[in-house]
Amino acid sequence: MRIVVLTGGIGGARFLLGVRAYARQVGAEVTAVVNVGDDLLLHGLKVCPDLDSVLYTLGGGADRERGWGRAGETWTIKTELAAYGAEPSWFGLGDKDVATHLVRTTMLNAGYPLSQVTEALATRWQPGVRLLPATDDRLETHVIVSGRSELASPALANSAGTADEQGRRAVHFQEWWVRYRADVPTHRFVFVGAETAKPAPGVVEALAAADVVLIAPSNPVVSIAPVLAVPGLREAVAGGPAPVVGVSPVIGGAPVRGMADRCLAVLGVECSAAGVGGLYGARSDGGLLDGWLVAPEDEGTAVPGVTVRSAPLRMTDEPATAAMVRAALELM
Ligand code: GDP
Ligand code: CA
Repeated sequence: MRIVVLTGGIGGARFLLGVRAYARQVGAEVTAVVNVGDDLLLHGLKVCPDLDSVLYTLGGGADRERGWGRAGETWTIKTELAAYGAEPSWFGLGDKDVATHLVRTTMLNAGYPLSQVTEALATRWQPGVRLLPATDDRLETHVIVSGRSELASPALANSAGTADEQGRRAVHFQEWWVRYRADVPTHRFVFVGAETAKPAPGVVEALAAADVVLIAPSNPVVSIAPVLAVPGLREAVAGGPAPVVGVSPVIGGAPVRGMADRCLAVLGVECSAAGVGGLYGARSDGGLLDGWLVAPEDEGTAVPGVTVRSAPLRMTDEPATAAMVRAALELM
């Protein structure tokens, strides 16, 4: 059996632990197609937060408490940068993590595409699943906000900070998320570069050969949507041979962790299992889903044209998460 998972960072990485455990039980192959919309250049280094969350988590090197970054991390570089007043200072750049970004940036500068760089990093971490960035091309999630223009950070590439006549400006997703905690008047999300991006090598092929496509319980607006924004990728999922089953990141009207509620509000979508299911939509109706797995708290959720079932959806440990994956696959 071949399983393809569309995924973001922390939530997606935890889900992949369960997918991998399940796949080991039944002898399945797993390919993860990972969001790159959060990627950014910091102090000249290319940082790919979602790919790194997945690599570190599956490779056993992630900080479980914090959720992101490396276990046993130290912060000397961050402290030294702060002593120089080097901006941006709001992004947590740990020493061990920096080594990953150095290797990645060196390889990218030498001309290797991100997909090959990721494969090279994976030889160290042995994630046990095939990791593919959604695209090798530049695709960055920017957020159109207003107010707080005095705080624009010119040091962050692409956060130009120049407001238009309505006082609106674009900030990089990370600035919006990490620095502003999504707490600023927000108008919309833009996936810069999406029009001309191509799926990374292997992505369309994996989807064409899949027996099932799972949409991880990742943030639908800023983790899954930028994956689907790569031209041809949504079509390869929606028009592919494999059934598509999504797992809700929202339980009982709230995201389990993070700020998906704020992201959904920007789109005017209700923060509920039904809201997110409806946002993805039924494959039979121009959307994506054949099946939608919700939590027992959300039993009775209906998404027109989609088979909805419930199962415990808290990824407390690997066996619980593997059971979740089994329940998702039983929806096929
Ligand atoms: P990010 O890229 O690091 O923000 O991570 P993702 O987008 O992959 O995942 C974030 C989402 O995971 C959030 O919207 C959470 O609601 C969801 N999430 C986190 N833990 C759990 C869990 O135990 N169960 C479910 N169903 N969703 C979860
Ligand atoms: Ca992310």
